[in-house]
Amino acid sequence: MSEESTRLVLLLIGPGTLAIFSLAYLWAWSLERKRHYLLLFSAACLAFSLGVLVQIFAWPSNLGHNALLSNTFYTLSVLALSDGVLRRSAKSFGLFKALFLLLLSSCLIAYYFYVDRNLVMRVYIQNFGFGLILLISALRLSALAKARFIDRALFWTLLVFSLQFFPRTILFFDVSGTTNFEMFGQSLFWRTLQLSQAVLGSALALVILAAVITDVIEDLRRERDVDRLSGVFNRRGFDEHAERVMNTRAVSVAMVLCDLDHFKSINDRFGHSAGDEVLCLFGAILRRTARKSDIVGRVGGEEFAILLVDAERSDAKDFVTRLQRAIADTQFPLGAAREPVSASFGIAVSAKNEDLSSLFKRADSALYQAKNTGRNKAVFSD
Ligand code: GH3
Ligand code: MG
Ligand code: MG
Repeated sequence: MSEESTRLVLLLIGPGTLAIFSLAYLWAWSLERKRHYLLLFSAACLAFSLGVLVQIFAWPSNLGHNALLSNTFYTLSVLALSDGVLRRSAKSFGLFKALFLLLLSSCLIAYYFYVDRNLVMRVYIQNFGFGLILLISALRLSALAKARFIDRALFWTLLVFSLQFFPRTILFFDVSGTTNFEMFGQSLFWRTLQLSQAVLGSALALVILAAVITDVIEDLRRERDVDRLSGVFNRRGFDEHAERVMNTRAVSVAMVLCDLDHFKSINDRFGHSAGDEVLCLFGAILRRTARKSDIVGRVGGEEFAILLVDAERSDAKDFVTRLQRAIADTQFPLGAAREPVSASFGIAVSAKNEDLSSLFKRADSALYQAKNTGRNKAVFSD
């Protein structure tokens, strides 16, 4: 291979990798169309790749047009990337803000080419501008720094990626002494830029892809483990999470089983959909009454289980009292009379080395007693 073609192949590695990422995001979007931000990531990779191609192939050959076109692609790429990561976290960059920044950067590049030709200013405007846009987006996502591992990885990669624009520009642009456009392609600045974009850009693209895959898997898991009607775990999800807590944490736990009283009659008198609404409201009451560490599940038609983690008998009693109060305070949509709803409770506190199934059985017998001795009450197993 001639030296020229080797050089060309090396130059094309960066934009080629980005084009592959662009296709990967597009493919991911075709599988998960509700995640619109995947299109933004695809666009960001494609635009950056096009920006580099415009520069290395000198198309258009007119230097001013080339600078403007490549700047447009780079700016679009940075804006799409920022909006993409923000949208993944249910935020957004804002269309008008983005259009304004695109126009501003085009005007500045045009000014420092056609009016006051100044390569230094153009390089600083682009690099500091991009760094700033990405930095602000990263800081708006600072909550991710405390979230799951993949979110933390995304936050820090984005932060490092945004920050590298500043020292890289200051250090390498000045020492390379490149102030004319013709020498720019050979300059140390251009090479470090290519290198850092290739390494950090690919790292960022990979982390984003991993974050997207994690999002999809988590969604599927949620669909599998959560009951849609009540918003708490289904039987499968409850068992898995409860089992995990009991196997990994040497703390006392309490099982509270809770069955709505005369629910069949609620269905019969007010209709099945009213019954569904009661279950939905009941799930909401349980979620807000339980602590974050507790495990709440719908384990039967109108039967719920709550595993109170790190709880003794008195904690379980307090929890059930709070729950009964919350149920009594809730207005269920049952006719004009707003008929009250009640529930019976069976409670079992774990004995040493007791497993989930034995704890569940004891709570179930206690619930049976609560039902048999008048309902709307809590009975402890022992
Ligand atoms: P008890 O006080 O003894 O618990 O009486 P109950 O009527 O609540 O208990 P029973 O087991 O006789 O009836 C439970 C009812 O719950 C029967 C079933 O149709 C209803 N059910 C189960 N799943 C759902 C659901 O998803 N939605 C609605 N609306 N009803 C459900
Ligand atoms: Mg019932
Ligand atoms: Mg029941």
